[in-house]
Amino acid sequence: MPPVIETVHNFIDGEFQPSDEYMDSYEPSTGQVWARIASSSDKDVEKAVQAAEQAFPQWSATPVAQRSKIMMKIADLIEERLDQFAEIESKDQGKPVWLAKMVDIPRAIHNFRYFATYALHDLNSSSIKQDTNSTNYTVKCPIGVTGLISPWNLPLYLLSFKVAPAIACGNTVVAKPSEMTSASTKLLAKVFQDAGLPKGVVNIVLGYGKIAGQALVVHPRVPLISFTGGTATAEHIRRSAANLCKKFSLELGGKNPAIVFEDCNFDKCIDTCIRSSFINQGEVCLCTSRIFVQRGIYDKFVQAFVEKAKSKSVGDPTDSSTFCGALISLEHRNKVTGYIEGARQGGATIQCGHGVLDLDLPARCKDGYFVRPTVITDISDDSPAMREEIFGPVTCVVPFDNEAEVIQRANSVKYGLCASLWTENVSRVHRMSPKLDAGTVWVNCWLVRDLDMPFGGTKESGTGREGGKYSTEFFTEEKTICIQH
Ligand code: NAD
Repeated sequence: MPPVIETVHNFIDGEFQPSDEYMDSYEPSTGQVWARIASSSDKDVEKAVQAAEQAFPQWSATPVAQRSKIMMKIADLIEERLDQFAEIESKDQGKPVWLAKMVDIPRAIHNFRYFATYALHDLNSSSIKQDTNSTNYTVKCPIGVTGLISPWNLPLYLLSFKVAPAIACGNTVVAKPSEMTSASTKLLAKVFQDAGLPKGVVNIVLGYGKIAGQALVVHPRVPLISFTGGTATAEHIRRSAANLCKKFSLELGGKNPAIVFEDCNFDKCIDTCIRSSFINQGEVCLCTSRIFVQRGIYDKFVQAFVEKAKSKSVGDPTDSSTFCGALISLEHRNKVTGYIEGARQGGATIQCGHGVLDLDLPARCKDGYFVRPTVITDISDDSPAMREEIFGPVTCVVPFDNEAEVIQRANSVKYGLCASLWTENVSRVHRMSPKLDAGTVWVNCWLVRDLDMPFGGTKESGTGREGGKYSTEFFTEEKTICIQH
């Protein structure tokens, strides 16, 4: 029997709407086409913007308690359909089903609940000045139609991290998810309908970034763009909208270091570095891809880390024992293995992973895009695998001698998204953390996310912060009202 091909249309003005063209979407673990996705034009984007504009006056005037109630319902309905969401995300993205069930979908639910309740308590400020006889207060006003562009690595999770604060603040939305992972938007749009979200509040336009995404970025009546994706794309977006005075939040790539001192909790460090390097096939912007280990424990670390990396199973994402599923596409797999081969040719040692061990895959996965967790040593700081974002299950482990040296080396790349520091020395933590070029420094942990805290990058990892009050600031204009008595 031929496989069932899903068709995923745009969601505009509360309805599923066909587009003139469709594209194929591949299942990464089989290499087969499994869905047809709308390939939208600027005409579709215009329709979505108009729907969002029409919905804005009523949605922005809807009491925040009512907006919150609808968002809580959205969260409940995603939770009820959690298994279905997880299966679709896994099929579409290649990640293990268990991971989507444990992380992606629960986090998406949390995003809706968090911002639904946050908005209820986000107070405006006021000040009374005797010298000018004036009372000042501020109101946070929604901005209008917001353009939200998201990547393929954590599809529902990252989309919900934008949609939830945008609508909680009273904005309406035109969202453009990645063309490679749009399938779960069909289920999400159904949740919006079932939760009673008014028509036009969230519109989803599918398709290529350079067509549909670009049309959204340069649309003169979309004053805000929240973008998560690659640094090169962000540069292009910024340039193409340079004359439009838009508000931008840009969450971009990373080349994140872990810095491991001799006094660390060794076993916890090994376990966490395995997770931080290889979870979701290394396709998380926050994944560790350079591990600096203090020389005294370097050999012990490499031995334990490589042994553990070798033990992680790679294969069918539907198998509950699979640790790494498939990479997003053949092109991406070739990019990742290209870095490994480049490192090998440059004289580095590939301790385990691609090109070292063969994969034993089930028949249905024989054309999937798999790469084993790969550990590289004996590599110089200026080689591409140590400088550029690989975005796959590949990490380099190198020795260091002292604090000043490791800070300089950790900061020597163009990115500055996150870092993790492994030491039991609290003075060292306070001394080093401010000196690391990173939006987040995790100490003796990784990916412990608190939505109250600002999230974002430094240098070419992005501009702006999101989370709690930072998202509210971004998705509103705070207006000062000054009354003289
Ligand atoms: P990408 O830049 O190729 O695409 C991201 C989104 O932008 C997609 O929806 C794409 O269709 C769209 N797009 C592409 N060209 C566009 C254009 N000209 N105008 C408007 N939109 C356009 O990134 P990707 O490959 O989907 O995602 C991987 C990247 O995302 C990695 O660099 C990763 O580090 C980064 N990322 C960052 C974070 C973070 O929070 N900092 C989180 C996840 C992923």
